Amino acid sequence: HMESAKVYVDELFEKVQQRNPNEAEFHQAVKEVFESLIPVLAKNPEYIEQSVLDRMVEPERMIIFRVPWVDDQGKTQVNRGFRVQFNSAIGPYKGGLRFHPSVNGSIVKFLGFEQIFKNSLTGQPIGGGKGGSDFDPKGKSDVEIMRFCQSFMAELSKHIGPYTDVPAGDIGVGAREIGYLFGEYKKIRGTFEAGVLTGKAIGYGGSLGRKEATGYGTVYFVDEMLKAQKESFDGSTVVVSGSGNVSIYAMEKATQLGAKVVACSDSSGYIYDENGIDIDLVKQLKEVESKRIHEYVETHPEAVFVANHADIWSVACDIALPCATQNEIDKEAAEQLVANGVKAVGEGANMPSTLDAIDVFLKNNVLFAPAKAANAGGVAVSALEMAQNSARLSWTFEEVDVKLQNIMRDIYQNSMEASVEYGAPGNLVVGANIAGFTKVADAMVSQGVI
Ligand code: GLU
Repeated sequence: HMESAKVYVDELFEKVQQRNPNEAEFHQAVKEVFESLIPVLAKNPEYIEQSVLDRMVEPERMIIFRVPWVDDQGKTQVNRGFRVQFNSAIGPYKGGLRFHPSVNGSIVKFLGFEQIFKNSLTGQPIGGGKGGSDFDPKGKSDVEIMRFCQSFMAELSKHIGPYTDVPAGDIGVGAREIGYLFGEYKKIRGTFEAGVLTGKAIGYGGSLGRKEATGYGTVYFVDEMLKAQKESFDGSTVVVSGSGNVSIYAMEKATQLGAKVVACSDSSGYIYDENGIDIDLVKQLKEVESKRIHEYVETHPEAVFVANHADIWSVACDIALPCATQNEIDKEAAEQLVANGVKAVGEGANMPSTLDAIDVFLKNNVLFAPAKAANAGGVAVSALEMAQNSARLSWTFEEVDVKLQNIMRDIYQNSMEASVEYGAPGNLVVGANIAGFTKVADAMVSQGVI
């Protein structure tokens, strides 16, 4: 069966490439999943007979729309908006919105595809979706951000709802943008539907712990991996790329667990502080003042700034947490991390390692926590936010944090068990893909050909 499953997957991958030309990121995400699933397909021929995977790689629908808005000079600007509604087998579409100039069909589809498996792994009833725009929030005024969000929602509102599709944030979309998007949605509908968006501010239906969830969750997951080897964050040296929401709270939790975080970055470069990064200062610079990371050295002259963000992976560390963006670790960066003795890598960003980089980590027995599993804490707490919204109550920070810890532990255990069951013990790439896939695949089979 193994041979025929491999032939099936290779042929299907060819078809995906032909049907989605020039979409390198989408192909990359699909290839990784397909290769992991060969043993599952070999063991369960009904998945092949019912074309489950053929159906899963085709989005249920993809919406592309014009987003016109007027800038502060009175000039009309046009951006492109996207929402991919990828899979609703186990719940309403769920996934973030990314506002970044690099956003295109390939990026949105790779993110949406990964979201199917990630959301399934959380154990929460949420399907897979993703969206965004090539709008660049950098340098825009607050009013420009508001006008853009209102125009974006004028179209998106036709396609979403608390039981249909529930967007949230991603790169370039935080509580401020969610607020403007929610305001416009509420105005259009004329109803207060709190559960239509997650990542809301606490005062109108947001969940305590949502802001911290992705970064904390990544560290909780890596901690599980380390504990299984009788190791821990305590006393370790950590490098965390990025300085956005995921990075900041990964640094915070790693530090709370006794690690020393020595470097973080933004797109302009990285900072190295041998005394440990001053996280309150990074929060002030990034969350409050929207400044560049090199400002850090103004008040911390002992720290150094290097104007090349990719070079952060030349900093020696025990644990590396890529929390910036896709493909930020290539083969060479992975080899450098290994040469410098890295013990564990936890992906806080989506698809931050290339396929070659992942091979380097696995071949060198680095403990590797793939994004779908390691960064699932964010969307998991989004599902908890939806639960609180529909129950009309709000849990304490501690209640949410305990649930998050349990969810991350379950994801670790389920992924580990799947890796053992399907002949790749300890390979969490394979384990996470299989554990995420089977739940969605079984739901699709139960629901018939739709
Ligand atoms: N954008 C986050 C992710 O990549 C969170 C999505 C959500 O909360 O819906 O999973």
